[in-house]
Amino acid sequence: MSKIIGIDLGTTNSLAATVDSGIPLVIADTAGRRITPSVVYFPNESSTPIVGEEAVRTRALKPKETVYSIKRFMGRRGNEISAEEMLVTYPITGKGHEGVTVEIHGQFHTPEEISSLILAKLKADAEQFFGEPVTRAVITVPAYFNDAQRNATRKAGELAGLTVERIINEPTAAALAYGLNKLKDRSRIAVYDFGGGTFDLSILELNKGVFQVLSTHGDTRLGGDDLDKRVVDFILSKITEESKLDLTKTPEQLARVREAAELAKKQLSKYTQTRISIPFLTSEYSFDYTLTRDKLEELTRDIILRTRAHCLQSLSDAHLQPEDLDQVILVGGQTRMPLIRQMVAKIFHCKNPDSSEGNGPELNTSQHPDEAIALGAAIQAEVLSGSLSNLLLLDVTPLSLGIETFGGLMNVIIPRNTTIPTKAGELFTTAVDYQPDMLIHVLQGERERAADNWSLGRFTISFEPAPKGVPRVGVQFEIDADGILHVLARDVKTGKEVNVPIKSTIDVKDEDVKKMVQESIDHARDDVKARQWIETKIRARDTLLATRSGMSACGNQLSPEQREKIEAAIKHIESVLETEDPLTKIGDILKLKAANTALDNCTRPLADLVMDKAMEELLKKRGLI
Ligand code: AMP
Repeated sequence: MSKIIGIDLGTTNSLAATVDSGIPLVIADTAGRRITPSVVYFPNESSTPIVGEEAVRTRALKPKETVYSIKRFMGRRGNEISAEEMLVTYPITGKGHEGVTVEIHGQFHTPEEISSLILAKLKADAEQFFGEPVTRAVITVPAYFNDAQRNATRKAGELAGLTVERIINEPTAAALAYGLNKLKDRSRIAVYDFGGGTFDLSILELNKGVFQVLSTHGDTRLGGDDLDKRVVDFILSKITEESKLDLTKTPEQLARVREAAELAKKQLSKYTQTRISIPFLTSEYSFDYTLTRDKLEELTRDIILRTRAHCLQSLSDAHLQPEDLDQVILVGGQTRMPLIRQMVAKIFHCKNPDSSEGNGPELNTSQHPDEAIALGAAIQAEVLSGSLSNLLLLDVTPLSLGIETFGGLMNVIIPRNTTIPTKAGELFTTAVDYQPDMLIHVLQGERERAADNWSLGRFTISFEPAPKGVPRVGVQFEIDADGILHVLARDVKTGKEVNVPIKSTIDVKDEDVKKMVQESIDHARDDVKARQWIETKIRARDTLLATRSGMSACGNQLSPEQREKIEAAIKHIESVLETEDPLTKIGDILKLKAANTALDNCTRPLADLVMDKAMEELLKKRGLI
């Protein structure tokens, strides 16, 4: 059996690691480099793409043929990607529901294919290192990756010729690398991971040598790249100020600015000022500027502060106070920035090793923040190969999963932060008489209305048509150890089943994750109102239907005043239903509730008549009258 390697497939950098004689180590390439930039250069249509450091160098010269940060596009469809995100130097397209593709030299490449080239390079380096073929890997993904993104990562591994033994969340891998499995029982650990393209804050608890993820919160589109962009914009404004040049139309020059900006940002983690020098942007103009750490902090503070809300939310999801934490670890290259360390220390009330301020546990920076995830993946690989059997990892699902029900509401089947692998199910029925089938619309997200959530896929299950409420369909959600969802729908009467793995993003119809998470917080009040309105509306419609059928069966036995009252109450409900705002799809809830009660009250005599008639029919049927 081949050795299993651990791979951190990062937005900015990727690494492969292994455990050798019990010691986790990062695998270096033949040039001795331990970090492979996640950058791919396509020289022309026939030659082999170039991956890593060499590709980084071509980025400034060949920006249209050099692909970077492809992880941001993994498993996502064109219509989920904002115009701002599309502002990469290589041509990227993705129409509507289609997956994204990169077009270079007239050839189209999917993000999976491009990622597979990075993985293939890591695989080749590992083979060189071991002197034998390597065909198995554990690959890490951000905790916020949804099913489509996890599947795309798995596919990239397969395209690279790797059997992906396990997809694990990055924070879980990092905690392992920090050796936190050796802490005392019930220790709680916060993992603050700020990398090139993603941010996650996860809280883990150690229980008898087993890690359990108590909560996880983050943003798949927040990272060091965003800080670079602020510095790039600052440099561009300085250039325009000094020379009136507009570099936004010259990708080659823009790529040089981007490179200089990132370098300056990194320098400022060590020094309080750094010189940015970009010679010959034109034949007459070179850029030269001294950027201070204070200025960098001023330019980026708001981005860094955005991580605070995720930290607090994660603490609150885990029902913990900062004082309840035993360890806070930093992961991701960007956490080398002093401002980030200060802020994390403040949020979690811990001691900052840079300044010795604070009074809680010290911020743990004992591992290289850029290597921790790969090392953790290697430790997990070792567990899977049976060499480290006393360690078991449990992850959680970061977003709720459910299906759409009557009136377009989200019905949660697996709530967010449920430990995986997990299985949960519920019984559903029909809302309309003699409905021949039921649409199972699988959703992920925290919003009350189905349309506001992330749509993972839809399929139908057919059954024998029957009056509404009679057919019973059991829907079961199962999330496997890789965090991939399998949905099963079963017609209870016949036992007929439809089993659907939720697969690639191309078949998926959805809103983008970040927007959804943020909107769930921003729109909490409106969401509650929307749910109340829809539920009251369903009740109103049911009562109207029952009243109309009662009126046609026994309405003639009522007095003219009783009939008038009912007609008026019906009209009133209909007029309140029209208060629904076409934009928000919410109407006057209190008025509709009152109108429902009014109709209920004045239909009591009608209900009695309907009941008497039903009794009479039953007795007749049994031959008793
Ligand atoms: P990772 O995804 O962990 O490889 O992190 C990469 C991100 O960390 C990139 O945005 C880098 O610019 C950033 N980074 C790496 N080293 C440093 C440093 N010394 N100071 C600040 N940011 C850094």
